[in-house]
Amino acid sequence: MHLEKLEIQGFKSFANKNTLIFPGMLDKDRRGITAIVGPNGSGKSNIADAVRWVLGEQSMKMLRGKKSEDVIFSGSAQKGKLGMAEASLYLNNKDGRVPPAEFGLSLDNYSQIVLTRRLYRDGDSEYILNGSRTRLADIQILLAKAKFGQKTYSVIGQGMVEGFLNTSLSERKEFFDEATGVKQFQIKRDEALNKLRHSLDNLQQAELLVGEIKPHLASLTKQVNRWRKREELSAALNDLQLNYYGQLW
Ligand code: ATP
Repeated sequence: MHLEKLEIQGFKSFANKNTLIFPGMLDKDRRGITAIVGPNGSGKSNIADAVRWVLGEQSMKMLRGKKSEDVIFSGSAQKGKLGMAEASLYLNNKDGRVPPAEFGLSLDNYSQIVLTRRLYRDGDSEYILNGSRTRLADIQILLAKAKFGQKTYSVIGQGMVEGFLNTSLSERKEFFDEATGVKQFQIKRDEALNKLRHSLDNLQQAELLVGEIKPHLASLTKQVNRWRKREELSAALNDLQLNYYGQLW
């Protein structure tokens, strides 16, 4: 799997649509390398930020901003601010690193994976996978299956190697979890735990309701029994009255 193309529009300093093409294999054995060069402040790191962002990065610190809308083009002398930021990452999946079956798509659809993230100034955001809206959690699982993701070694920023060497053992474990493909199971476990917690909440609410209703149950049962008895008595009375008035007549 390799990165083929990145499209950015309205993201940080990229007001207009920009397409960056990354060469894949130069020949059978050699993979191409792309360098982006430019003067200070020309937006080189913004490109790396866009890659992180589309992979689902949630930390504004990692994206060098304070609030989420900081990634939307905030205007320049030539152009007013925009209402939406969008980035699309085109990944070549011809090696089938992301198995398509789980996502109900044919292999053809999955020889290229297009991930898109959009953010509107009003706070709405969207994740799109090969043209269909999806959840961040699904994107995270997909990336974890491909053994890469937004958090760890896929995007290595300035000072990150040094940081990695200085991290604690538990922080370093995160990198290895992602590289070995354990991450997808951790994500699924977290989702399952969340669902369990949710079910437990529901159960507790149901128990509370039962607790509220239970005291009324005894008096209601009594009332129902009385009502049944009344029906029986009224039928018996009817019979007796028929008999009595019949005899009088
Ligand atoms: P350096 O070589 O100094 O690290 P760089 O080429 O990596 O610089 P970036 O840090 O990617 O440059 O880009 C910084 C530029 O992006 C700044 O000019 C900043 O004003 C601009 N920028 C960042 N966020 C936005 C935004 N939301 N809207 C418009 N411009 C933005």
